[in-house]
Amino acid sequence: MADVSRELAHHLDARDPLAAVKDRFTLPDKVIYLDGNSLGALPAGVPDAVDDAVRRQWGGDLITSWNGNGWWTLPGRVGDRIGRLVGAAPGQVMCGDSTSVQLFQALVALARLRPNRHTLITDGGGFPTDQYLAESVARMLDLRLLRISPDALDTVIGDDTAVVAIGGVDYRTGELWDAPELTSLIHRHGALALWDLAHVAGVAPFDLDGIGADAAVGCSYKYLNGGPGAPAWIYLPTRHQNAADLPLTGWHGHATPFDLDDSFTPAVGIERARIGTPHVLSMLALEAALDVFDGVDMVDVRAKSLQLTQFAIDYVDAFLPDVEVVTPRQDARRGGQIALRHREAYAIVQALIARGVIGDFRAPDLVRLGFAPLYLGFADVWDAFEHLRDVIESGAYRDPAFATRRTVT
Ligand SMILES: *Cc1c(COP(=O)(O)O)cnc(C)c1O
Repeated sequence: MADVSRELAHHLDARDPLAAVKDRFTLPDKVIYLDGNSLGALPAGVPDAVDDAVRRQWGGDLITSWNGNGWWTLPGRVGDRIGRLVGAAPGQVMCGDSTSVQLFQALVALARLRPNRHTLITDGGGFPTDQYLAESVARMLDLRLLRISPDALDTVIGDDTAVVAIGGVDYRTGELWDAPELTSLIHRHGALALWDLAHVAGVAPFDLDGIGADAAVGCSYKYLNGGPGAPAWIYLPTRHQNAADLPLTGWHGHATPFDLDDSFTPAVGIERARIGTPHVLSMLALEAALDVFDGVDMVDVRAKSLQLTQFAIDYVDAFLPDVEVVTPRQDARRGGQIALRHREAYAIVQALIARGVIGDFRAPDLVRLGFAPLYLGFADVWDAFEHLRDVIESGAYRDPAFATRRTVT
């Protein structure tokens, strides 16, 4: 059995090369935040950036800000900074709208690149919005929709497959899929690969250019810490940009938006992935939030992420023998979160939140705990799991107050 103790936690914290990055965040006292995979914490520079955006840029400079304060170039600028974190060279990522909207854009654009194929494959355990958008796109373009675990992709992919859409990490179990291997399988069948990196960007390195992904999308409010409703992003590699027929032909994606033409001509390059007026205030918040990644190597982030999740698994093995670790134990297959199965998962999560340990519940029986390496230490994990053990052993979760289902779980 692996050694797991408070002393080990302090030892690991003392040797953590990312320990100082925590100071780049504003975190509440007495809270251990294990939900950075759902809503990242507040980077310390964001309030001033938002204040400046509202008072000086909007309030003072008004519409001249589109040129003078760089609002027009903001979506591409932020896109490039996100691109660096997911292995995309500049000029291939555009920031804007929601992940759901960008999924629609990417699914349709890729399907249109394979007009003689009629099957769309998606992960049957994937995030609901990914499946719902795939259903709608299949209906709209008259495609057959197949749902399968990425593990079993080779059993269904074939000559009729146009697009395969997969999330990089399973949002429930935390399983990290083998993206290079799956992308190469998809390409061997002449199909196109769309990756949803919502649970990857900012916690694990990804090599979009290197694996030859055909498109990717992701959100910015999880490990990218862009704040509630932060704009999402789309990756469209250079080789597909001129052929990509994106369905949402908003005027910002026009070749010459201020000619105000009556008909759409797409811009050259990633600019065609713009849609309408961006969410400038949210995007400026996100731009400031991304400063926390300055000088941070994703290799270090990944190394710490794996150590944090391993520490948590070791704790469960040592002290919580009745709790099942659903997340894969092999490093290569583990994303940034741990899912624990327990019949009373909902009440346990509520009891933890009442003690200031914030995680979340995923139906029907998972306690989902996210480990954001930029602001979480090993002693935090130790303390959180001591609470978890106490909540379970004492039966504290049986308090009726913890049984009531709230709207957002
Ligand atoms: C969080 C998440 C989303 C969120 O979609 P929104 O449109 O931003 O609400 C989509 N897909 C995956 C895989 C996610 O994890």
